[in-house]
Amino acid sequence: MTSKIQAPRGTYDVLPEQEGARDAVDRAARRILEGAGYRRIETPAFEATELFSRTVGEATDIVQKEMYTFEDAGGRSLTLRPEGTAPVCRAYLEHGMHKLPQPVKLWYLSSFFRYERAQAGRYRQFWQVGVEAIGSDDPAVDAETILLLHALLTELEVRDISLRIGSLGTPASRAAYREELKDYLRSNEDRLSEDVRARIDLNPLRAFDADHPGTREVMAGAPRLLDHLTGEDAEHFAEVRALLDRAGLPYEIDTTLVRGLDYYTRTLFEFTSGVLGAQSAVGGGGRYDGLIEEIGGPHTPAVGWAAGIERMLLAAERLPEAAPVVDLFVAYEDAGRRAEAFSLVADARRAGVNTQLELAGRSLKGQLRQADRLGARYVAILDGEGMKLRDMQTHEQEDVGSAAAVVAGVLRGRHPG
Ligand code: ATP
Ligand code: MG
Repeated sequence: MTSKIQAPRGTYDVLPEQEGARDAVDRAARRILEGAGYRRIETPAFEATELFSRTVGEATDIVQKEMYTFEDAGGRSLTLRPEGTAPVCRAYLEHGMHKLPQPVKLWYLSSFFRYERAQAGRYRQFWQVGVEAIGSDDPAVDAETILLLHALLTELEVRDISLRIGSLGTPASRAAYREELKDYLRSNEDRLSEDVRARIDLNPLRAFDADHPGTREVMAGAPRLLDHLTGEDAEHFAEVRALLDRAGLPYEIDTTLVRGLDYYTRTLFEFTSGVLGAQSAVGGGGRYDGLIEEIGGPHTPAVGWAAGIERMLLAAERLPEAAPVVDLFVAYEDAGRRAEAFSLVADARRAGVNTQLELAGRSLKGQLRQADRLGARYVAILDGEGMKLRDMQTHEQEDVGSAAAVVAGVLRGRHPG
């Protein structure tokens, strides 16, 4: 026997019964984000590898070990998108969106790819909904995007959420801080995990993220970036906070917040859910004022976030079920009526009636049972020489003379009076 082929590790199939919940996310995102002036964008599933190495950062986990990178037959290095911000910024530049009124507000719901250790809430192909507001450094944009993510999580009834915010300042203040942090880490080197020690030079901020007990002890006393912000950055952060306060959204200031992408400047934030266990982050983002310059554009301040669909669904209160509406099921007694049934289905569908046809050769009784299982509102029964329309709610049945009468009966039932 040949062995069965399964879905690749870290991937999953979205089965029909799970589609309703995912569709609910799509609809909620569309309503909330488009209502706030965001327009949907979809970029290619793969991009030039350089787009991510330049923006996400050479030293990050994503670029160092998580990207699906391949060479195509033309010898180009391409990468399945591991995140959405860099591709959206690439599109912004490529299509001259800087000529539009700023900020340009975009949203997406797409799948992303990272070679990570697969576990609950962590996949190798996963879906994110995200926004990018490009072309303004106004702290109101930061606060607005945070509120929009909060609105989405609230709408989906994601349980036990909390918000942490921080500020990374500008690359210059961060660079000075990094040196100070490196000195501090080196002077405590013997208590750090091997992993953190190996990356003191490459990515010292990552040490705040470590689970290793010794490292955590050391980090509790480490210098904090928030104490090293320039006056302007500190003011920007204070304004973001004031606006969130004004909007009544509670948050915690986290002086150690770091995220695994290098492009962030100033505001940084993350929503977590208390019901998710180890993979507690449902969504997060921040400002990335240097990214567009990094890919060859003019200085363009921007801010955005992304939230994981799988984690939102895992942490959501109740998942809406997908139940296709069946207005009409067409049943027939013997094969001689099949073509007539088939054409009745076509007529009904043309009239906008959701119609299904018997397709498995069931007996008439079996067909009525099937119609019931599907939750059909009406059944057209072609038996003997006649045609009947049965109302599955009232169990009333009437003789009808034609396909047109069946359709009219169903439509009347849909819009009584
Ligand atoms: P984590 O700390 O959990 O690795 P992250 O900081 O890498 O998350 P981002 O790159 O900011 O996450 O992506 C935003 C959101 O996308 C996360 O909050 C999470 O909900 C989701 N996400 C990230 N990676 C995965 C994955 N491999 N599988 C499923 N969802 C993911
Ligand atoms: Mg990650």
